[in-house]
Amino acid sequence: MSETVSFGYEDVAPDEKTRRVGSVFSNVAASYDIMNDAMSGGMHRLWKDRFVRRVKPRPGEAVLDMAGGTGDIAFRMAARRPEVTVADINQDMLDVGIERAMERGITGLSWSCQNAEELSYPGGVFDAYTIAFGIRNVTDIPRALREARRVLKFGGRFFCLEFSTVEWPGFKDVYDAYSEHLVPRLGEMIAKDEASYRYLVESIRRFPPMPQFEGMIREAGFAQTKVEPIMGGLVAIHSGWKI
Ligand code: SAM
Repeated sequence: MSETVSFGYEDVAPDEKTRRVGSVFSNVAASYDIMNDAMSGGMHRLWKDRFVRRVKPRPGEAVLDMAGGTGDIAFRMAARRPEVTVADINQDMLDVGIERAMERGITGLSWSCQNAEELSYPGGVFDAYTIAFGIRNVTDIPRALREARRVLKFGGRFFCLEFSTVEWPGFKDVYDAYSEHLVPRLGEMIAKDEASYRYLVESIRRFPPMPQFEGMIREAGFAQTKVEPIMGGLVAIHSGWKI
């Protein structure tokens, strides 16, 4: 791994990125869900619905929802009755998720504090691995992708939902202006935390474009990789198989 990694527009030591990402999500945990609706005009719900339709979890399958945060992906999967483990490095995010699950009467999920780069699970135990809006926050992404492959069974599926690079010219300008100026202001107004939302925008800008990220997934050993851009690449679903 290189000596520095990106934390938003800054280049910092790997340990520092892990620590600062930890503070971002501890700071935003309580207002995370309301901010997602405010920032995306509710569209994150549709992207997540579409993502779970792609994953097609089946009853009894073991699914690891990595960087699962406050549970949005796991809650959507729960209706299809797989065995879902929600794992995240940040206990504050998981605690909000556990409370939300209780409020909604969603039972049967396992919650676990885990670093995606170094999972405590043995190899070959999951049928599917999902990660939504999580991978760009991970310090050593290639290592996390190798871990994803390790814990999957042969025939297991990898799915990643992440912001990407808008490729529609007119829309790109509007989106850039919106994310650069309005998102940090929304963060200040709703979450009283402009800096964390500035980091979120900057981390999206620095995330590798779709072909490069697909190459990283292949590099980790996944086969039959695919990318499905949504809204001109504003977000994308990447997938691959362990075979
Ligand atoms: N998946 C949820 C969703 O779609 O709403 C939460 C996404 S949230 C933007 C990103 C999550 O990634 C945070 O909960 C954060 O704690 C988690 N995260 C960051 N680095 C991680 C790591 N190394 N291992 C596991 N989770 C990590």
